[in-house]
Parts: sequence; C-alpha cells; structure tokens
Amino acid sequence: MSEALLEVDAVTKRFGGFVALSQVSLTVRSGERLGIIGPNGSGKTTLINCICGSLYSDAGSIGFDGVEVTRFAAHRRARLGIARSFQVPRPFSSMTLAENIAVPLEYVAHRRSLHRADVSAEARAILAQMGLADRADAPTLTLTQVDLRKLELARALATRPRLLILDEVMAGLSSVEVDEMLGIILGLSRQGVTIMMIEHIMRAIMRFSERVVCLDAGRIMAEGTPAQIVQDPNVQRIYLGD
Ligand code: ADP
Ligand code: MG
Repeated sequence: MSEALLEVDAVTKRFGGFVALSQVSLTVRSGERLGIIGPNGSGKTTLINCICGSLYSDAGSIGFDGVEVTRFAAHRRARLGIARSFQVPRPFSSMTLAENIAVPLEYVAHRRSLHRADVSAEARAILAQMGLADRADAPTLTLTQVDLRKLELARALATRPRLLILDEVMAGLSSVEVDEMLGIILGLSRQGVTIMMIEHIMRAIMRFSERVVCLDAGRIMAEGTPAQIVQDPNVQRIYLGD
C-alpha cells in the first residue's frame, strides 16, 4: 500500500447552525482514484472546499503530503499541489483557450521552473492532451458544454497537481462525452496524478474508482470498492429509495 497523500481527520463544517460536514475522516493514498458519491446537499462540494482552502473547517485537521494545511490559504495549498475543478466552469470568457491556461501557468511558472517564453507552448500541450488543440486560439465563448468541461480540467492541470479534485465534471454530458472525459481522466491517473472524483453518474464512478466513499447529510455513510458500494443497503436506500 502506498503512503497517504491526503489525510482528512474529523473535519466538521457549519454554516450558522447547520452542520454541513460532521466529523468526516478519509485518507487518499498516493496514486489512488477515489470516487465520492452522495445525494445533493450531502456536503460533497463543501468537503472539497475545505480540502482546497476555499472554506476553513470549524474542527478537525487536513494533512497533505505530511504537512498540516488546515489553516493554509487556498493559494498555499495550490502551491503544494492540490488542484480542483469547479462544478460550474468559470473560464475567463473574454480570453482564448490558450490564454485561459496561461493564467494558472504563469502562477506556478516559478515552482515548475517554467520560463515565461514557454508558457504558451505548455498551454497548447495541455489543451492537446484534452483534445482541444485546434481550439487553442478560439474564444471560450464559442465552446460547447463538453469543451468547457475539458477547459476546466486543463486549467486545473496547468498547476501540475499531485492531487486533482474533480467536482461533477461530467454533469450534463451525453453518454459518449462521459466516456470521452473518463478516458482523459483515466489517462491522467496513469500518469501518476492522484484523483478524487465527485460524480453523480454511477456508471462513470464505477469505472473510475478503486474505492468509493458515500456521503449522506454531512457524514460518511459507506465506504468500499465499487462492487461493495452497489451492494450496500444504505447506499441502495439513498439511491433507489426505500
Ligand atoms: P453537495 O455538493 O453534496 O450537493 P454542498 O456541499 O454544496 O452539497 O452543500 C451541503 C449543504 O451545505 C447544503 O445544504 C447547502 O445548502 C449548504 N451550504 C453549502 N455552502 C453553503 C454556504 N456557503 N452557506 C450556507 N450553506 C451552505
Ligand atoms: Mg456539489
């Protein structure tokens, strides 16, 4: 078993009197593909926000690669190698695709010892990996839903993350597009990126995940291999009704 890259220990997050996450603990091993499922409002995005530093947890701790990052600002966590996609893609809409990727690249150019002059070529290489090479100089306004999602993935990848967290990157895509995205994501995994994927599309979660965690009302209510998860009576109750 490889070592833990991410360690979430008893994280609690409240919004006023509402408890969005209650004592959530999970570990992601280096190189692992972890799927996160759970009904709407179960706390999946809040968990990502706490891991990435968009939100601070109220209790518990978060460790990344042996460093406690619980109180680190989001940009410090990004520098350590945590990247996430947003559930609703937010490109810089007045820029081209290549320019959109250049922004995070410039941000990490120093850490990656990437020369400013190489930023454009690197942006194009990342877009090519997503199958967007021919759109590099197109404005993002012209993109279809699937291409917007690929751009969102490319943006997250530009920082060369060690941990990539994907928040419903397949929502609203057709079956063929889901397979295409899955192919790209599994390719990233083969390159050694540790990936946490939040997804509603069960078929995609089952194919992607080595392990699945199911959240319900801010708590982990099941955890196991995809085969174990589909057999879990609590998961079946949530997804299929009583
Ligand atoms: P999921 O991603 O699983 O659908 P979320 O993490 O987005 O769920 O939300 C979990 C719960 O926390 C929901 O009830 C949501 O309304 C609430 N919530 C999320 N963010 C905030 C916020 N910034 N302020 C108040 N409540 C929030
Ligand atoms: Mg969400």
